[in-house]
Amino acid sequence: MVHIGSNFDSGNIEVVKQDNPQDIQLNIVRDSQAEFFQWFHFRLQGAQGVPCKMRLLNAGESSYTEGWQDYQACASYDGKDWFRVKTAYDGKALIIEHQPEYDSVFYAYFAPYSFERHLDLVNTAQLSPICKLHLLGQTVEGRDFNLLEISATATPEKNIWIIARQHPGETMAEWYMEGLIKSLLDSNNSVARALVKQARFFLVPNMNPDGAAKGNLRANAAGANLNREWMEPSLERSPEVYYVREKMRETGVDMFLDIHGDEAIPYNFAAGGEGVPSYTEKMAELEHLFIQKYVEITPDFQDTHGYPKDEPGEANLTVASNYVAEHFQCLALTIEQPFKDDLSNPDPQKGWSPERAQKLGADVLPVIYAV
Ligand code: ZN
Repeated sequence: MVHIGSNFDSGNIEVVKQDNPQDIQLNIVRDSQAEFFQWFHFRLQGAQGVPCKMRLLNAGESSYTEGWQDYQACASYDGKDWFRVKTAYDGKALIIEHQPEYDSVFYAYFAPYSFERHLDLVNTAQLSPICKLHLLGQTVEGRDFNLLEISATATPEKNIWIIARQHPGETMAEWYMEGLIKSLLDSNNSVARALVKQARFFLVPNMNPDGAAKGNLRANAAGANLNREWMEPSLERSPEVYYVREKMRETGVDMFLDIHGDEAIPYNFAAGGEGVPSYTEKMAELEHLFIQKYVEITPDFQDTHGYPKDEPGEANLTVASNYVAEHFQCLALTIEQPFKDDLSNPDPQKGWSPERAQKLGADVLPVIYAV
């Protein structure tokens, strides 16, 4: 007897029909109080050795249908090792075909990053003598909202802010942060040691813990798209942005990175602040240098494929990186990673993966050092 469940951290699926393994019918559930949907995460049991065909019926109405083109779903038996399985999109449904080797198997849009793992990450980080764990406040649903401050100097020259996962379904963003944080706290990493002697890092590995736990793609528990809340965040609708913005005003910002995932584009890339009203030559130079260094350091980063550039003065200032560029007059970038694969360096078995996201996060340290 085949059974599908999703009542766990970041679970998301509605079962329409599960009586025939060759004709399992499912729907992706909308984000809390919002129209977005794309993230799915569920567990199939009782199908060991049985060929299964699972159709996500409403995929064609999801937030980013171009995200389903050439997309392969992620699967895992133990919740740790994730691999890709045969997936097709017919313009309406996303069709996953898989014959599980074990009784229980997870399927997800991308390798999940649980709240438990998030707590382990921040609690382990605080054990380092150069790391302080701050409680910024509570989320809409009352989850603790943490910030890590990492520095080995009492007189930092620069304040560097890096945040991730405003869009909770973009789990690669927190995998990236895990790689970055571990490298930054590694006392054998000479680049990290040099950085923390000069700068103070403020890191928010998960901007949207509620949305993450609820299995949302883009919204928090109040239905807010946090990356459109930066002009006027409120304690009722977007406390996560409100607390971070307040703290930024207190510390100042000399460099800002906002880590995301992109549904459609199969590459890693950066989006800059060229459209903000007070964009300067200096900001343009720093952006160029940052991107150039990242491209030099890792073949996983590139600058050919990305978003179209904003026209001068046309940037949307409700977006975090544009808001920060405008208000702090500093280098502020959005970093995007793929849900699919990195076509600069394809891996047909795993696609873009937690392991590669962690490596890309660690690789940003020598870039920051160079800039
Ligand atoms: Zn995003």
